[in-house]
Amino acid sequence: MYSKFDITTARYGDVKDMHYHLAILPWGSTEPHNLHLPYCTDMLHAQAVAFEAAEKAAMNGVNAMVLPGIPLGSQNPGQIELPFCIHASQRTQIAVLEDIVESLKKQGINKLLIMNGHGGNNFKGMIRDIMIKNPGFLITVVAWFSILPLKDFFEEKIDDHGGEQETCVMLHYYPELVNLNQAGDGHHNDFKIEGLNDKTAWAPRDWAQTTKDTGVGNPKKATAEKGKRYIEAVMDRIVKFVTDFALNDSLY
Ligand SMILES: [Zn+2]
Repeated sequence: MYSKFDITTARYGDVKDMHYHLAILPWGSTEPHNLHLPYCTDMLHAQAVAFEAAEKAAMNGVNAMVLPGIPLGSQNPGQIELPFCIHASQRTQIAVLEDIVESLKKQGINKLLIMNGHGGNNFKGMIRDIMIKNPGFLITVVAWFSILPLKDFFEEKIDDHGGEQETCVMLHYYPELVNLNQAGDGHHNDFKIEGLNDKTAWAPRDWAQTTKDTGVGNPKKATAEKGKRYIEAVMDRIVKFVTDFALNDSLY
């Protein structure tokens, strides 16, 4: 569907006379999501949330352009061996981000919001690097999936990857892409070293040791209705942030 807030379909004929306050960059990953969700689930989610936020922020007088989604995320050992799972190094990711920032700067667009859809992505170091080198350019990041406590919306206590939350949101936005009959139960194994489970320390999980169906969290109680209720609450927060970020000249 055509939108002047979505660069995938927008035409220069409309864009040239507009003033855009910011760009929104959906950023996901390419990896198996249990057995029943698309590989690019994280990018599709981030795009859908970004499109909806841009359309709603427009009602507050904000023009935000959603850039093409980036499907290049960070992966874990044990997941990267699975067919077509793509690991993008931090080096690659910062190169992509720097090129986008350089381009926007030349066009007088000095605000970028990264809409992150993948829990394994971490942009904080890259954003610091780029903002130090580019005074006056503001980058913020929203991880839509972790803004609100999941326990207020979903039944499963463990819900980490390809589980109830992601499946509900996919059923809400793209029901035709979900095959819930195919889903595994998302059973996972903890580390045997307690400090890694109680967060005294961190190490990347080995996905092959962690789960058999690539999921962490059972998706079988997912419904589109739960996804809709959750996204409505998340969207209120995001639209308010996009509006505030767009209309304030500085963060302080
Ligand atoms: Zn995901």
